[in-house]
Order: sequence, then C-alpha cells, then structure tokens
Amino acid sequence: MRKPLIAANWKMFLNVKEAADLAGAVCNGNTDYSKTDVMLAPSFTNITAVSEAVKSSGKPVIVAAQNVYTEESGAFTGEVSIPMIKGAGAGAVILGHSERRNVFKETDEFINAKVHKSIEAGLTVVLCVGELLQEREAGVAFEVVLAQLGKSLAGVKDLNKVVIAYEPVWAIGTGKTASPEDAQAMHAEIRRFITRIYGEHTAKSVRILYGGSVKPDNIADLMKKDDIDGALVGGASLKADSFLKIINF
Ligand code: PEP
Repeated sequence: MRKPLIAANWKMFLNVKEAADLAGAVCNGNTDYSKTDVMLAPSFTNITAVSEAVKSSGKPVIVAAQNVYTEESGAFTGEVSIPMIKGAGAGAVILGHSERRNVFKETDEFINAKVHKSIEAGLTVVLCVGELLQEREAGVAFEVVLAQLGKSLAGVKDLNKVVIAYEPVWAIGTGKTASPEDAQAMHAEIRRFITRIYGEHTAKSVRILYGGSVKPDNIADLMKKDDIDGALVGGASLKADSFLKIINF
C-alpha cells in the first residue's frame, strides 16, 4: 500500500517571513500524517526558516530543495550544494522539474548525475518527467516520458529514496489539468517501465505523483486512480487553505 504524498513547489515565490508563516499555517492544519505525507519545497534562501517552522510545529513535514548542484563545494558561482541544503534542513530535493529542463536547459545526463549524488547523500529525490504539448499532440508522450525516466535514472540501483512526479509541461501553471484518465494512463505506463527495470516489488512501492494545475476541486478525482499516489502542487500550494484542502482531499 503506497502512502499518498502531497508536495508543495513554491518555485521562486515568497520571502523568508512569508515562507515561514505559510509553513507554520500548513503545519497547523488538521492533517492526519498517518494517512498522508506532506512535503514543502521553498526556495534555497527560505529552507532554514521553513525547517525551523516545521520543527517548532512538531509535525513530520518533509522539507525539500527545488534543485541542487552535483559538487560539494568549489568555484561554482551561484550554485548550491547538497551539504548546504542538508545543513539548512532539507531532507529531500526536487530534480528535473520542467522549468529546470526547459528554461535552464538541464539535460537528462545532468539530472542523472544529481539524482546519484542526492541519493548517495541520503536525500529523498522527487524526479520530475513530462512531455511538451507538441509531443503530446504528436502522439509521442509515452516515449518522451519513458526516455526521460530511463536516462534520469540510469545506473540507479535502488528506488527506495525516489519519488517520480509526472508533470505534463502543458498543464503546469496553465490551469489545464490532464484528465484523470490520461494521467492514469501515463502513470500506469511509468509503473510498467519500473517493473521491467526494477521488478514488481519496487514498482508496487514507488510513489508516482501527478503535477499540473492540481487544485482543491480536481485532486479527489485524480487520487481515485490506481496509479496516482499524490501530487506535486505549484500555484495552489501558495495559500495554506487551498493546499490544506488538497492535502485533505
Ligand atoms: C509545479 O510547479 O510543479 C506545478 C505542477 O505547478 P502548478 O500546480 O501551478 O501547475
């Protein structure tokens, strides 16, 4: 039985105080953590404040970074390392988000290197994959997503610390959600892929989140689907009331 995970991606929003206040408000919500895991991914500058807010609430909320660099330290101006995010309180990291892939031109090979380093460091990895609108319209969505998955996970032996997030790029921040049926079809395809590479036991336990304009009014229908194990939420996670409604779908 896979425990649902609802993860917030706060992207490049909120200052330190706003992020700490929002984390506090989420933690103060009436969430049954025995039924649902909750993750918050603030920007790098807000990880410490969010971790402290979570700690003082006593709630088992996971704090994640939205990205990380492969090297531990050195002359890499503007980058942030795994020891830095761990030191700030992160226990997880989002990798391969479509904005990293498409805006910052990150390759599957680079993402794969980050996946390896993050797992070695004991972080939980939320690995994002998803097709562009033109790829869906061209009927190659499955191939694109499985190719991203295969390359991003190349050489990864154990998926124990990996969560997969399927995020069709055309649904992110656009208000267009994949239908629960289309999302389920992709999630089932991803799970079949995991079965082929890692075996049935791993495939049954790995969580596959859906992301792309998840809102309080569409989460329940998505979560009814067999292979949808939670959500990665952008816009609707920036307000405590809407995010708590999603958590408590
Ligand atoms: C995201 O940032 O990963 C995302 C899915 O955003 P939104 O929910 O706003 O579409």
